[in-house]
Amino acid sequence: MQIQVNDSLMNVNVLFSEADIRERIKQLSEQINKDYGTENTLIILIVLHGALLFASDLVRNLGMPTEIETVRIKSYEGTSSTGNITLVTPLPKDLTDKQILVIEDIVDTGRSIDFLLKELRKTNPKSIKVCSLLDKPEAHEFPVKADYVGFEIAKHFVIGYGLDLDGKYRNLPYVADLKKA
Ligand code: 5GP
Ligand code: MG
Ligand code: MG
Repeated sequence: MQIQVNDSLMNVNVLFSEADIRERIKQLSEQINKDYGTENTLIILIVLHGALLFASDLVRNLGMPTEIETVRIKSYEGTSSTGNITLVTPLPKDLTDKQILVIEDIVDTGRSIDFLLKELRKTNPKSIKVCSLLDKPEAHEFPVKADYVGFEIAKHFVIGYGLDLDGKYRNLPYVADLKKA
């Protein structure tokens, strides 16, 4: 597939196919099921919108009782490189003593997840872990580490399976990067 990005025509180059993602989600969910067991409720906190497709496939494979919650965060890039993140929606109520699994689409600089973890810690949960579909280790600027990672990738901009380009292409069933056509 080819798409127009600003002034350039780009080739959509599949990195992880539908089958690759399905297989990896099976492995991740087996690990999560093993780590948490089947007894205690797990709060699934989906970071919108990017993690929507990933989370919806992942939760179907989980064996413990779950509660599904969402949060939206927004990053404002000012003229400085620090960026500024805010919560667009409030955190779910009553997280005290709960087990929380944050579901993210991608850890890039780590700024978003670092911010969210700090906010979540204020609510005194029993535990917080992070499960991210993708991780760009070479891009990290914050000392964060996802507990579960689907795939590590290089510092490329990727789209599909929840990840957008200007709000579009989230519905692609695969993860792709963009190469000049
Ligand atoms: P971070 O705060 O870790 O730098 O990245 C935050 C957010 O930027 C991610 O949750 C995601 O929404 C977006 N992002 C980072 N890298 C990519 C990418 O390669 N593709 C897309 N579509 N979004 C990305
Ligand atoms: Mg995200
Ligand atoms: Mg985005």
